Amino acid sequence: MEVASTQLRPLAAPRRVTVLGSTGSIGCNTVDLIERNPEAFEIEALTAHQNVALLVDQARRLGPRLAVIADESRYGELKEALAGTGIDVAAGREALVEAADRPADWVMAAIVGAAGLAPTLAAVRRGVSIALANKETLVCAGSLMVAEIARHGATVLPVDSEHNAIFQVLETRHPDAVERIVLTASGGPFRDLSRKAMADVTPDQAVAHPNWDMGAKISVDSATMMNKGLELIEAHHLFGLPEPQIEILVHPQSVVHSMVSYIDGSVLAQLGQPDMRTPIAYALAWPARMTAPVDRLDLAAIGQLTFEAPDPDRFPALRLARQALCAGGSAPTILNAANEIAVQGFLSGRIGFLKIAEIVEQALEAIPAAALNSLDDVQQVDREARDLASHLSNGS
Ligand code: NAD
Ligand code: MG
Repeated sequence: MEVASTQLRPLAAPRRVTVLGSTGSIGCNTVDLIERNPEAFEIEALTAHQNVALLVDQARRLGPRLAVIADESRYGELKEALAGTGIDVAAGREALVEAADRPADWVMAAIVGAAGLAPTLAAVRRGVSIALANKETLVCAGSLMVAEIARHGATVLPVDSEHNAIFQVLETRHPDAVERIVLTASGGPFRDLSRKAMADVTPDQAVAHPNWDMGAKISVDSATMMNKGLELIEAHHLFGLPEPQIEILVHPQSVVHSMVSYIDGSVLAQLGQPDMRTPIAYALAWPARMTAPVDRLDLAAIGQLTFEAPDPDRFPALRLARQALCAGGSAPTILNAANEIAVQGFLSGRIGFLKIAEIVEQALEAIPAAALNSLDDVQQVDREARDLASHLSNGS
């Protein structure tokens, strides 16, 4: 059931927004909310990797000041398609950073993977509001990002549904009263599959998530449960809790998006449909709220909400992420980079599903964790882990 009126309640003043990764799943949902409320938003910049057709379509509809395509070979195509519109066009990795550097006061960071790090950091350094979907940024450069966020007075609004849920129910006035946070996980498409059966699953099966409609990389991460491992590290940096205070609980219906447990025994949770437009709307309107055109929760129709402990034997990614978080330094950077390469290897048919976690484990064993003192350190470790994981994915 969709609510009758999809008209969003206008915000107090127009917000100037930039959407990094506007053509992806999170990007399109963000554009959808913005388009339903045109008086509330002005668009500074939109960026995409290779999908010129969708970027052009979005740019023509939203009228940003700048449209950027990361793949430089598509520059001519973009320029021609937007000729005469008055929209500036640019291409390449530096142009992504330039887009993030433009004077928006709200930036959606929705590029997938470590490719989002430099542009997200550029937005952080402008001290504005960052709606953070790109969890890999916090995983690969967590403590540096947190320090930059504090130094520049940026506001991070978590978009990942679990972290958005915690953000909504965390009583920041009483940090000592928080006992632990509980990240819920759907368990992905292979929740009930044996390890033996997992050996033969195809990319199509892995990408078909039971509850959420997402990009390919995060869908595979959900299937291995590495997504929850990345979210554990993300939660640690966002909310400042140590690893033992972050629990993971499988909840197949994806209705309870996460919970905070307090010292008096209270547990506060945020519930909703598995539709990313709710957390995105929360970040877009924060500190107010706006109407979002999502199906309303009908608990009587759902009937039952169930919970179970995750199975560490069938989903070793959870153990690897906990180990990386405890090791600290560059270990999460290695975990993230090796995982990105292994997921690409799986999606392109070079390696089997179970090999993803194996490659991540081998990378963590082979590359010693070291302190990360600068972005250069992050980039160097990231490259080293990618090279090793590529080597391992090619079977050599
Ligand atoms: P997606 O693959 O659908 O979209 C990714 C976007 O990033 C696209 O616009 C693409 O053009 C751009 N992009 C990809 N590679 C790039 C590169 N090398 N340089 C510049 N731009 C590049 O991914 P998504 O599902 O929208 O996820 C985006 C981020 O949000 C990820 O970090 C993901 O973990 C996170 N996230 C997504 C969801 C979801 O429901 N989709 C939920 C929570 C968190
Ligand atoms: Mg999530």
